[in-house]
Amino acid sequence: MKIAILSRNKKLYSTRRLVEAAQSRGHEVQVIDALRCYMNIAENNPTIHLGGENLEGFDAVIPRIGASVTFYGSAVLRQFEMMGIYPLNESVAVTRSRDKLRSMQLLSRKGVGLPVTGFANKPDDIKDLIKLVGGAPLVIKLLEGTQGIGVVLAETQKAAESVIEGFMGVKANILIQEFVKEAKGADIRCFVIGDKVVAAMKRQGAPGEFRSNLHRGGSAELIKITPKERATAVKAAKTMGLNVCGVDLLRSNNGPVVMEVNSSPGLEGIEGASGKDVAEMIIEFIEKNGKLGKTKTRGK
Ligand code: ADP
Ligand code: GLU
Repeated sequence: MKIAILSRNKKLYSTRRLVEAAQSRGHEVQVIDALRCYMNIAENNPTIHLGGENLEGFDAVIPRIGASVTFYGSAVLRQFEMMGIYPLNESVAVTRSRDKLRSMQLLSRKGVGLPVTGFANKPDDIKDLIKLVGGAPLVIKLLEGTQGIGVVLAETQKAAESVIEGFMGVKANILIQEFVKEAKGADIRCFVIGDKVVAAMKRQGAPGEFRSNLHRGGSAELIKITPKERATAVKAAKTMGLNVCGVDLLRSNNGPVVMEVNSSPGLEGIEGASGKDVAEMIIEFIEKNGKLGKTKTRGK
């Protein structure tokens, strides 16, 4: 097959591993920086160009679109789809996953376990908003945050009120969530391909840190997940319409709750912790499912 990888940088671990896996299985592969592509959408014969060259002959495209290039990256991915090229994850699903509120609304409609969560723009009644999610302690998150930055634990009612007021003051979009204390600073990343969790790892925050992000000094280890956790991750992926994703769960007293579904999950942590060749499993999935003109994973 001829496979395109939409990625800004060939040297990134995940991109490199996907290139290696594709080549070792006999495929032709090209890493394409979506931002450098330009497109013709004026005809009924959509094309994509890069540096004077017409990109053609691809069978499948793997989007590795970073959060900061979601808008243009998903437009390029959509153009590949319009040309009938099989996307590992569809543009609709990628864009959906980047909107935390939209994602949580969809997941809750399907009965996927979530932490009790509130969101607001300019509430007149902050006390009532806090009451809605069960009172302090609670977690307040900046919607635009990544890598754990902008995630604050407010241990008391007073702290919660002032943090919320502070974020409102700078017109930030926030989400307010019950604090799942029993997770003890750990979360579980389930790596989903198709309808299976192919690898899972536990990420544990540094001592005294409730955020488990590796960027915040957390560490990762292999973990065995329960059937309920497995089912929750698969259902979350399916609801989002993602063939390949990372589903982050917390172990709460009420069972697994989903925190986030990541449509460009990194491979380094999960391959390191699990010892599995996840890149190869992704390429195998494309070999089985990547038929031209076949895009059908729009989510439920
Ligand atoms: P980001 O998307 O920036 O990584 P997250 O929402 O994933 O932000 O939060 C970062 C980390 O903080 C999570 O991995 C988890 O360990 C911890 N965390 C987030 N929300 C909660 C919560 N409601 N209860 C307990 N821990 C939480
Ligand atoms: N950079 C990836 C993204 O924007 C996140 C990778 C990860 O956290 O696994 O989706």
